[in-house]
Amino acid sequence: MGDDWKKIIYRSAAEENLLHLTSCCPYSCIFCSNNYNPEGIRVYAPGHLPFPMLLEALALIDPARIIRTGESTSRVTEGDPLCHPDFFRLMEVLRELYPQTRVEIVTSIASLGGDILSRLQELEPMSLKISLNMITPSLRQKLLGDSQEVDIRSVLEKLCYHGFLYSFTVVAVPHLSGWDELMKTILTGGSYLPREITVYRPGWTRKTPVSLRPGVEMEGKLEGLVEELAYQLAVPLLLEPPKLKDLKARVAGVYRDSPASNAGLEKDDLILEVGGEKPLSRLDAHKLLEKGGGTLEIMFSRQGITKRAVLEKAAGKKSGLIFHRDLPGYLPAYISRISRGRNAVLITSRLAGPLMKSIFPGTEPRVLPVENEKLGGSIAVTGLLSIEDILQACRKYAEDDKLDLVILPAKLLDEDRRDLWGERVCRIEEELGVQAWELSG
Ligand code: SF4
Repeated sequence: MGDDWKKIIYRSAAEENLLHLTSCCPYSCIFCSNNYNPEGIRVYAPGHLPFPMLLEALALIDPARIIRTGESTSRVTEGDPLCHPDFFRLMEVLRELYPQTRVEIVTSIASLGGDILSRLQELEPMSLKISLNMITPSLRQKLLGDSQEVDIRSVLEKLCYHGFLYSFTVVAVPHLSGWDELMKTILTGGSYLPREITVYRPGWTRKTPVSLRPGVEMEGKLEGLVEELAYQLAVPLLLEPPKLKDLKARVAGVYRDSPASNAGLEKDDLILEVGGEKPLSRLDAHKLLEKGGGTLEIMFSRQGITKRAVLEKAAGKKSGLIFHRDLPGYLPAYISRISRGRNAVLITSRLAGPLMKSIFPGTEPRVLPVENEKLGGSIAVTGLLSIEDILQACRKYAEDDKLDLVILPAKLLDEDRRDLWGERVCRIEEELGVQAWELSG
């Protein structure tokens, strides 16, 4: 396996404030992406990390930012941090070092039985991002490999009682669990008043057995269900990944009891101005809102009518508005500048294609949506594109059009400028004789 994974773990701690504890997980979810990685993909599963290594990673953490654990952001397979035998030992050290820093733990609801919640409460400030997925015990056993030792309903009740900050995630697999189960899970989860519920579209690769893949009709039905339930729940309900078509700062949800909800802002409002400044994207709006403090005047549009709200918050604190992640507002102008007068293509995924084409409808640069052929299946995101996918698309493009610059998102590359299969980005330059420009942001 080499030592590459160690570098990734230390870098994740230093750059992303992410503590990786283990690649082990006591469950066996039928949709777990760890099971269906195609051959050749370079991912690491080092098991439980030794305690001295966890301490070294902890020393790299920035106590001014939230510390996250259990979140998968790199090519090291992420398991459930609560199953690491030294989890609480590490948290106690962390609390001695950083008593005020919030820790966000990504875990399964089935890992929160017994006295776990009480023990976590002693380590506050904590927040929990909990995979709920299904509510019916027999389906949890059959599709998630949940041993049913933990009564899920009693954990849900204790969560409210302990007063944790928590949110739920649900991977939508109605073709396996039934639509009723999906709806029941979302509505039950919502009744326990999490901060938000995020529903994930199921992803599958070419290795996923056909019997586990949803039919084409599922997409539209899922979008309709989430939209409908979002208006029934008292908490924000989000569908990820979103299918964005523009950079307009439309509100995806509003946290309860937040400055934004107190100011009367609602899901689907379009933010036009924050403190007199016009946001160029959702990300811009989010930053303007976070930066602003005191009394903040918000101009917004609701069903085509322009309105005004006054939001009271401290600078640097959250507004309570949720936006889907898009691009920094400055990026389109920057991309236009580097491609001006050149035969440039902007590489994007199938999913992000409509958004990028709405920003760059012309030829400087030409937007080139690329299929995730290497992973196959339903995967259509930029961060999982391969150099081979990009080369194939560019070769085809160059048969009919001139090409001298390929702009590609840096997020598909690691620090050695390699993709998930270990291919270097310089292959594009060598094989096509063009410049490859990596774009952060
Ligand atoms: S809880 Fe997460 S890591 Fe564990 S099997 Fe399920 S999807 Fe995979």
